[in-house]
Amino acid sequence: MRETPLSFVRPSAKLGRSSREEWLLLSIRKCSFCGKDVIPGTGIQIVRNDGSVLYFCSNKCRLNQLKLKRDPRKLKWTSKHVKGGKGI
Ligand SMILES: [Zn+2]
Repeated sequence: MRETPLSFVRPSAKLGRSSREEWLLLSIRKCSFCGKDVIPGTGIQIVRNDGSVLYFCSNKCRLNQLKLKRDPRKLKWTSKHVKGGKGI
């Protein structure tokens, strides 16, 4: 999940951002369910027994993924939604 390209770091250094702002930008994760940004200090991080790490922006996303076991591609409010469903 930690895929921050170097091109993302350099412009911020030119703009004179503080190290804390850079740290915030670098440690933003994508929600495992809806795909939105998860700002550090918010959301939930879950580590499964097999070692995979899941990040959730809200309890809504956590319940949809783990309890209700819904497919984010089928739900319109997620950024992973695909028109027409799984087949395409
Ligand atoms: Zn989410």
